Amino acid sequence: MHDEFTSLMSLVLDREVTPAQATVLRQHVAGCAECAATWREWQAVDVRLAAAPLVLPPASLMVGVAARLAERNAQRQRRRRLASGLLLAWGGTLGALWLVTLILAAWGYSHPLEAGLLLSSGAQVVTSLTGLLSGVQSFLRSLGQPVLALLSACFVSLTGGLVLLWVWVMVRSDMAQGSVTVTE
Ligand SMILES: [Zn+2]
Repeated sequence: MHDEFTSLMSLVLDREVTPAQATVLRQHVAGCAECAATWREWQAVDVRLAAAPLVLPPASLMVGVAARLAERNAQRQRRRRLASGLLLAWGGTLGALWLVTLILAAWGYSHPLEAGLLLSSGAQVVTSLTGLLSGVQSFLRSLGQPVLALLSACFVSLTGGLVLLWVWVMVRSDMAQGSVTVTE
């Protein structure tokens, strides 16, 4: 069986596709006997579910329904995995950027001479950037150590909060998925 088209069938029946995707499925089904059979079966299941939702369908139909529900759940899980992966990547990137910024700032703060040398040597290449960096450096120096510590603490608690929020969202959606599966 062609899994990508099975997924597409589920999406088409749920009306969650673009006309172009529907055309892709139609064209594949026209040339693939196996998928055509699956597609006919699923359409029949869908029509009967819509027409007589209160009548208990025969056992053979239940198998088709179960397959379709399983596919839908798998699809939801794939979507959720993708979403959490993106969130994780985004959070990781943000965290890394913050860390690099803090380390650079701390280094510039504790080595003003080297930072100044580095800045002046790069000055010919990127004058505007250098101006910005030395501006940031003098700004940080005027802030002083306690404020830097406070900023770091803010960053750590922000990151921790994001992680907790992510865990909470994941747990909640797992619970919601469980109840949906039961009521379907
Ligand atoms: Zn096929």
